[in-house]
Amino acid sequence: MDLREKRNALLELDLCDRCLGRQFAMLGHGLENYERGAIARTVENLKEDSFVDRNVPETDPTGEECPLCCGLFENLEEYVDQVIRALEPYEIRTLLLGTRLPEEIERAEEKIWEDFGKKNAEPTKTELNRLVGRKVQTRLGVEADFKRPDVNAILDLRDDRVELQVNSSFFHAKYNKYVRGIPQTVWYCKECGGRGCAKCDYTGKKYQESVQEIIQERFLKSADAKEATFHGAGREDVDARCFGRREFVLELHDPRKRSLALEDIQEKLNRSQAKVELFGVKETSKDKVKEIKEKKADKTYRAVVRLSGDISEARMDKISEVQGTIDQRTPKRVVHRRADLVRERKVYWIHAEELCRGVLDITIKAEAGTYIKELISGDDGRTKPSVAGQLGCMARCEKLDVLDID
Ligand SMILES: [Zn+2]
Ligand SMILES: [Zn+2]
Repeated sequence: MDLREKRNALLELDLCDRCLGRQFAMLGHGLENYERGAIARTVENLKEDSFVDRNVPETDPTGEECPLCCGLFENLEEYVDQVIRALEPYEIRTLLLGTRLPEEIERAEEKIWEDFGKKNAEPTKTELNRLVGRKVQTRLGVEADFKRPDVNAILDLRDDRVELQVNSSFFHAKYNKYVRGIPQTVWYCKECGGRGCAKCDYTGKKYQESVQEIIQERFLKSADAKEATFHGAGREDVDARCFGRREFVLELHDPRKRSLALEDIQEKLNRSQAKVELFGVKETSKDKVKEIKEKKADKTYRAVVRLSGDISEARMDKISEVQGTIDQRTPKRVVHRRADLVRERKVYWIHAEELCRGVLDITIKAEAGTYIKELISGDDGRTKPSVAGQLGCMARCEKLDVLDID
């Protein structure tokens, strides 16, 4: 079927100019589909190059009772209002609009494509998205973003409502933790899974506080969001402090506000408590989560180590032999959640000093992913060499701090 035949056959259907023109949407530039429709209706010898500005006739649009769109495009302003009302509670900067068409329109469109071919045609949905989307963007002063908009809005013409998918906002920063005994993220009670039970004093949590909770509270309040996810670049143990400025991304779910007074939040957070300090908060995107999770940072630690006996000076010197490549089998304390295998890690340097009888102060710089407590204790032979192994006695890490993160 050539272009003219297709046009002649389509004219039999009594489509409106828009719906007629949409069947030729890929032809010509800078035209609206209703203009293409008017051209198709009036240019007798219709060809691919007929779809140009000067062929647009000065006639009123025709086809009010269109069997395809059923007058859908007459209601554009109404749809725009509907979308804007739904978006009202949210501060947004970018938007992507989609529509769900009534089934009878989708069926009518499928039928036309079956009968006359889909070549050059644009789906009704796409045109409606574009027209409504453009008007909403102009009125709200927001941009279209096809990849990662602040909000995906679906204009659902089947159920006459607007469905919103509000995407998370992301903030990147670094933290130090100056106290022991708080985990990095919310730690729910294992007994009750967070519902609350006698064991957790009906709090639902194993630890009443976490770095995450200390940090997120002000963000949640400012953004008027209910929930957050804390993505850390690794984590220190509950009983370890961290002075190395650890990176993290805080993800706020379903935020109503996106422009936050970040410096103010950071300053107030740092002034209001002394357990956690925040550095360099900046807004970021979802990609940052992956980026910081993949970073492998070498770290410097300080450990206070208790020994089971007195050590001769000659023995003490053997500690330095831990330096180099070590074999570390997955520690007993984490093997329930990580694959049991032997990993090679590098210990760049180790320095030990006797604090008092049977107590050592050890600083170590080791490769990302080294388990320091096990490097000290030997973990029943699972880490080789180890401080305990070199000393020939038991060695237990009593205190651990992360001094520096490369
Ligand atoms: Zn129509
Ligand atoms: Zn519980």
